[in-house]
Amino acid sequence: MIIDIHGHFTTVPQALHDFRKSQLDGDFAPDTIVGQAASIPDEDLRSAIENGQRKLQMERGTDLTIFSPIAGAMAHHLGDATISRFWTEACNNLIHRVVRMFPRHFAGVCQLPQSPGVAPENCIAELRRCVEELGFLGCNLNPDPAGGYWTDPPMTDRWWYPLYEVLCELDVPAMIHVSSSCNPHFHHTGAHYLNGDTSVFMQCLTSDLFRDFPDLRFVIPHGGGAVPYHWGRYRGLAQDLDRPILEEHLLNNIYFDTCVYHTPGIELLTRVIPAKNVLFASEMIGAVRGIDPRTGRYYDDTRYYLDEIGLAPDERQMIFEDNARRVYPRLDSLLRSQGRGHDRRTCVATGLTRGS
Ligand SMILES: [Zn+2]
Repeated sequence: MIIDIHGHFTTVPQALHDFRKSQLDGDFAPDTIVGQAASIPDEDLRSAIENGQRKLQMERGTDLTIFSPIAGAMAHHLGDATISRFWTEACNNLIHRVVRMFPRHFAGVCQLPQSPGVAPENCIAELRRCVEELGFLGCNLNPDPAGGYWTDPPMTDRWWYPLYEVLCELDVPAMIHVSSSCNPHFHHTGAHYLNGDTSVFMQCLTSDLFRDFPDLRFVIPHGGGAVPYHWGRYRGLAQDLDRPILEEHLLNNIYFDTCVYHTPGIELLTRVIPAKNVLFASEMIGAVRGIDPRTGRYYDDTRYYLDEIGLAPDERQMIFEDNARRVYPRLDSLLRSQGRGHDRRTCVATGLTRGS
């Protein structure tokens, strides 16, 4: 089967955006938004999915999307921790409703109620609620709740450790995902996202985070930002800084997705980074919404690029399915509970060979 590990509910009904504006404007108590979001009718959610993400799944032949609230709308820099808490609950509850409507095609990942200057420990209750009560598989973790100003400690600081302890206990990964940028220097999807991906990788390189948390797993999206393209630089920096070789130091804990929107980029990613560390993803419907006139296909139709480069069948199986089941063990359990155990033949049978 083909598992897309990175999708956001970008087609959410307009009512949610209206409620959020009112919340930020202080038109009502911050917790009111939870009930307001709950009042959005099921048929509106169903329609948003059927005319959006589900439609694209069927057109592109993908089976299941790991689905989370709109990353850009997390906006942890807006309001305070209380506002963030209730906004987060409202958004996560909507994801849960979508997953219940389409249990074979979507599985949930939560946003967290982060807020600049507030310890990440404050997110533990919502993480536990989402994983233990709502059946979510992981979380999106914003390395910069200040929205482009990076005022909180690096992700390798002990500031983050209480949250990491719970991620390990629950056996769920975190996708490192910034939100919108309020710093005019950084366009949010064109610069801030890739800066976040790249910066956190370098933070990990210079730290012993994964010695402290050998079971902690980070998914770095958007193809790993600049990292795969500059792999030689990072290998060299690790050498200069007397760090272990990267494969041992970081690649038991860090994974990259395939949200790279052209064939040469995907080719580079899959040549540089071992297949065991690459997870199929499209981030549809999201960062780039148009059609590439050179291919006539949507830029975010990433399955096409992977098909085009022609992976070996075993690599293809890992990237499309096996790695997702391994990095998100709760997904594997969920699929098995649905009678969708591991069947290697699915991907291998449809795989193209390199050069074909
Ligand atoms: Zn995203």
